[in-house]
Amino acid sequence: MPRSRRLFRLGIRQKVVLVLLTVLLTALSVSGWLVLRDVESNVLHETERRGMETADYLSHSLAYSMVGYDYHTIQLLLDQVVQSGDLVHVRVVSDRGNTMAEVEHPARDSVERVDFDRAVTLDGRTLGHLELELSIEPIARQLAAQKQSLIKREILVIVLIALGEFLALSWIIIGPLTRVSRALESNVDESGVILRDIPVDSRDEIGELARRFNQMRAQLNAANQKLQGRVEAADRELREAYQKLLEQSAALQHSNRELERLSLTDPLTGLGNRRLFEKCVESDTALFRRHGDPSSLLVLDLDAFKMVNDTHGHDVGDLILCRFADLLRQNMRETDIVCRLGGEEFAVFLRRADASTAMDIAEKLRAQVENMRVQVGDDLSVSVTVSIGAATLSSPGNLVTAEALYKAADEAMYISKQRGRNRSTHAESRLGGRPASSGTLTGEPAA
Ligand code: GH3
Ligand code: MG
Ligand code: MG
Repeated sequence: MPRSRRLFRLGIRQKVVLVLLTVLLTALSVSGWLVLRDVESNVLHETERRGMETADYLSHSLAYSMVGYDYHTIQLLLDQVVQSGDLVHVRVVSDRGNTMAEVEHPARDSVERVDFDRAVTLDGRTLGHLELELSIEPIARQLAAQKQSLIKREILVIVLIALGEFLALSWIIIGPLTRVSRALESNVDESGVILRDIPVDSRDEIGELARRFNQMRAQLNAANQKLQGRVEAADRELREAYQKLLEQSAALQHSNRELERLSLTDPLTGLGNRRLFEKCVESDTALFRRHGDPSSLLVLDLDAFKMVNDTHGHDVGDLILCRFADLLRQNMRETDIVCRLGGEEFAVFLRRADASTAMDIAEKLRAQVENMRVQVGDDLSVSVTVSIGAATLSSPGNLVTAEALYKAADEAMYISKQRGRNRSTHAESRLGGRPASSGTLTGEPAA
């Protein structure tokens, strides 16, 4: 708000006092004026009466002197009268119009005065007439003094009434209003609850206002509480829904992971499936292309497995596949990847294993499979052999992609088959390099 407007912002107290003062001032001024007018008219009346009395007295006193043309006595009488009273000018005129005597006060022209004219008679005969001028100066002074005292009285009355009004206003209106205003200060907490009643219990309009406010406070607080309850319930529901959503999301994530795991797992053996194999080998060959880390792949195919199935049944075949998978798992390092590519064909990806290490591992696996006995029932023990093909990522042989690596290992594996099975062959040996094919020379599958 602008400064000037703030300056002119009057409170109720100031406004009422201002109105009251104006009314009082007007009323007292009118009444004072009326009183003064009464007093003035009374005084004028009194002056008139006195003038008439003086004129009567003088005309009686002058009558005999005028009959005898005693100018000296007339003059003396006039001097005496002018000295002792308020008369400022006296003139005695004979019936013929001649001035018989005249006295004039020196201050005659400087004062206000009233004229009187009186005939002088004796025994019914008119002897002449008397002219008087009476000063009303003392009366005017008296009037002025009365005016002053009236104004003082008015001021006193106004001050007393204003003071009384000020105190009464403070007591009756301003005090309760201030209490109302203070009670409303910081009366609402953070949650919107109105904290206290207004402590005004008078029976006037302010008391009524306070009572209505207090009623409203109760209603508002009840409504607020109801609303708060609903908000809390909604909040709770929302939180529960959110919690449920989180749980569902976690469950979904879990099942997605499970689904992902299942989609990459062979259900019979629990090993990784072809998809996982391709994924891993793909990323590892990419690493090789970037850093040149050598890694090798073994492709393992059980020998004459059809005959195992045909001889001992499919279930026994499954059992052998599982045992074989266990054997691979037990022998692999943590960084290696073991997968079942399908049927009785498996693959082992050996990270950071060169051709020689790969062949050592292949040979070790081949020997262990050869020695593995799968117990079926009480009196049947079945054994199998495996043909292994190995290949190692290498730039000279142009084995730099997953596809080429697999192809090379697979071909090496077929060479093992061709050479009689139950043996390991490295792809490089096929190309004339080391390491050479190894394993049993007979190549006959053990059944
Ligand atoms: P080779 O030495 O040339 O590999 O001969 P093989 O009999 O192992 O090869 P072939 O491809 O002729 O036969 C593979 C057999 O593997 C045929 C099939 O009955 C069997 N087989 C494939 N998958 C499964 C399986 O999940 N469970 C069982 N029990 N047998 C399977
Ligand atoms: Mg096969
Ligand atoms: Mg086979």
